[in-house]
Amino acid sequence: MGGGATGLGIAWDLVLRGLSVTVVEQEDIGHGTSSRFHGLLHSGGRYVVRDPVAAMDCIHENRVIKRIAPEAVEDTGGCFVQVDDEEEDYRLAWEKGMTQAGIDYHPVSASDLRHLTGVKIRAAHAFWVPDAVLEGFLLLQMLRENIQAYGGVILTHTRLRAVKTDGSGKIVGAMIQGADGEKQLSCDAVINAAGPWAQEVSQLFGDPITMHLSYGLMLIFAHRKFDVVINRLRPPGDGDIFVPHGRVTILGTTDIPVDSPNAPTPEISETLRMWQRGHEMIPEIENWRAMRAFTGVRPLYAKEATGSVLSRQVSRDFTIIDHGAGQGPGGAFSVVGGKWTTFRLMAERCVDAVLRYLAVDQACLTDRIALAPAAQNVDGSDNDTIYCECEGVRENQLRQVRGSVTEWRTRTWFSMGPCQGTFCGHRVMALRQQQYPAEDFDVNVQQFRQEREKGMQAAAFGDNARQWALQRAIRFQSLNESP
Ligand SMILES: Cc1cc2nc3c(=O)[nH]c(=O)nc-3n(C[C@H](O)[C@H](O)[C@H](O)COP(=O)(O)OP(=O)(O)OC[C@H]3O[C@@H](n4cnc5c(N)ncnc54)[C@H](O)[C@@H]3O)c2cc1C
Repeated sequence: MGGGATGLGIAWDLVLRGLSVTVVEQEDIGHGTSSRFHGLLHSGGRYVVRDPVAAMDCIHENRVIKRIAPEAVEDTGGCFVQVDDEEEDYRLAWEKGMTQAGIDYHPVSASDLRHLTGVKIRAAHAFWVPDAVLEGFLLLQMLRENIQAYGGVILTHTRLRAVKTDGSGKIVGAMIQGADGEKQLSCDAVINAAGPWAQEVSQLFGDPITMHLSYGLMLIFAHRKFDVVINRLRPPGDGDIFVPHGRVTILGTTDIPVDSPNAPTPEISETLRMWQRGHEMIPEIENWRAMRAFTGVRPLYAKEATGSVLSRQVSRDFTIIDHGAGQGPGGAFSVVGGKWTTFRLMAERCVDAVLRYLAVDQACLTDRIALAPAAQNVDGSDNDTIYCECEGVRENQLRQVRGSVTEWRTRTWFSMGPCQGTFCGHRVMALRQQQYPAEDFDVNVQQFRQEREKGMQAAAFGDNARQWALQRAIRFQSLNESP
C-alpha cells in the first residue's frame, strides 16, 4: 500500500525475488512525501552526530543508488560549511562521527570553496562530502516501469479500505476502492508503505501505530547558482541545505509538528523565516529570484509517545512492524521512518521479514541489479508547437504521457519554470481537453491554478511578487477565470 519511494522499492524487491505483487496508490505515484523533498542523496553527514545508524545507512545506500540508478543521480558532491566558530565542539564531534561512520570527507579552503561554488559563502570551515542530487520523479518512473516489466501491477487512484482474514487470523485479501468501484484482491500479505498515512492504514489492521508527523517547507529559486550541495555544519536546523536541482536551487527546510498527513499550504511568513537562515550562510540570496515554496510531511515513527519532543530529535532511522506479532492479523506489515536515500534498504529489510512469514527463501537482488532507464519521452521536433516556453515543452511530449494533469507536469516539466504556468497553463489544459474530452476543462484549470498558485503566493516577494500579480491579472481580467 503506497506508491511512494518505499512502496515502489518494496514492489521492485518483491518482483525480483519472484513474487506476485500489486501496488495500490490512492492518488498518483509520488503523491506523498516522495515528491516533496529536497532531492538530496544524503552522504549521511547530516546525521553522524545524533543519529549514527541513519548516517551509516545513508552512506551505504548513497553508494548503492549511484550504482543501480546512475541516470537518476547527479553526482555533484557536497560541502558542509561552518559559518563561524561558535559550534566548535559540534564540528569536532562531526569529524569524529564522519570517521566512525566511514564517510569520506576532507577540508576545503576558503578559496577552493569560492572556486567550487562560484558564490560568496560565509565560512570559517568547510569540508567536502559525497552528497549527490537525486532526481526523485525520474527514479519513481524508473521503478514503476521496471516493476511493470517484471509483471508487477500498479493501481493508481485506488485506496485500501479493509483487509480480509481467514479463521486463523491470517490475511487472505484486501478490499480496494478505485474509479470502477470496490473489489477484493486475494493476497497472502499486505505491506503498509503509506508514509505519513501509515497510522491510518495500520488502523485497518486493527493494530494502530503512532507516527510523529512534522512538515518541512522548501523554497525554490529560479536559478542554478552552483553545482554542489551546500549544508550548514551545525546541529540540523532550519534553512541549512541548498541543493542544485536541474535548473533551480532548493533551500530547505523547517521542522514543524503537524497532525494531518496531507502537506499543508506553505505560508509566506515561514518562507521568509527560513530564507533568513539561508541568508546567514549565503548573503547573496537576497539577489536571487524566488519561484515557489512547497511543503512535505515527514513520516517519522514515534516508538513511544513523543509528546513535546522536538521533531529534529526523532530518529531518521526506520522500523519494520510485524502486526501479526502484535494485535494485528498475520501477514500485515508496516514500514515507517527513514529517508528517500534509504528506500531500497527499507524495502530489503521489510521484504526479508515478509518472506520469513511466507516461508519463502529468496535473497534480495536490488543492490546488484541495475534499474533499466525510464523510456524517454519523444522530443518535440522543431515543427511541433511549444506549449511551455520556460521549460521548452512541446505538444508531442505532452500528448504521449498517459495519465493525470499531475503526470503531464512531472513527466514533461511543463509549468515548472519561473512563470509557473502563467502563460502555458490555459493552453495545456485546452490540449488536454482534446486528448481527454470526458474531463471537465474548468475543473482542470481551477485545480491546476490552485496548486501552482499556493506555491507562488508563499514566495511572493521581489520579482516573484510581480510575477504572481501578473498571473492573477491574466487569470481574472483576461481569461475570466474564477478565483
Ligand atoms: C521537507 C522534507 C525534505 C526531505 N528531504 C529529503 C532529502 O533531501 N533526501 C532524502 O533522502 N529524504 C528526504 N526527505 C524524506 C523523504 O522524502 C521521505 O522519507 C520519503 O519520501 C518517504 O517515502 P514513502 O514512500 O515512505 O512515503 P510517501 O512518499 O508519502 O508515500 C506514501 C504513499 O502512500 C499513499 N497512501 C496513503 N494511504 C493510502 C491508502 N489508504 N491506500 C493507498 N495508498 C495510500 C500516499 O498517497 C502516498 O503516495 C524529506 C522529507 C521532508 C518532509
